Amino acid sequence: MEDTIFSKIIKREIPANIRHETDEFLAFDDINPQAKTHVLFITKKPIESIIDLNEEEKDHELVGRLILEARNWAKAEGITGYRLKFHCGKAGGQEVFHLHMHLLSNQG
Ligand code: AMP
Repeated sequence: MEDTIFSKIIKREIPANIRHETDEFLAFDDINPQAKTHVLFITKKPIESIIDLNEEEKDHELVGRLILEARNWAKAEGITGYRLKFHCGKAGGQEVFHLHMHLLSNQG
């Protein structure tokens, strides 16, 4: 997979307002927020899209942990309601081809 804006953020080659980090995931503010809180949760593993999940490599379990990580982060921030969103493929509105989930909330 080619480098994307998000892989450069992981490598700290371009800046972002990082909100949370684990061995597997990075979360940072969306540069063009669509809600009071708009955080992108990305995998460090280079996967282009939900469309490209590899079941043999148990990528679905990685995505499950990504959702839990976002759930736990929101709870710690006192955010009690939010939307989680994946854009899947160009025809689904995806612009950055590095797996990510949007967390949007009017709280936070
Ligand atoms: P999508 O691929 O459609 O799920 O959306 C990609 C998202 O990445 C958009 O909401 C952009 O505003 C956001 N974005 C693009 N470049 C950056 C950046 N350098 N830092 C933070 N967010 C970004």
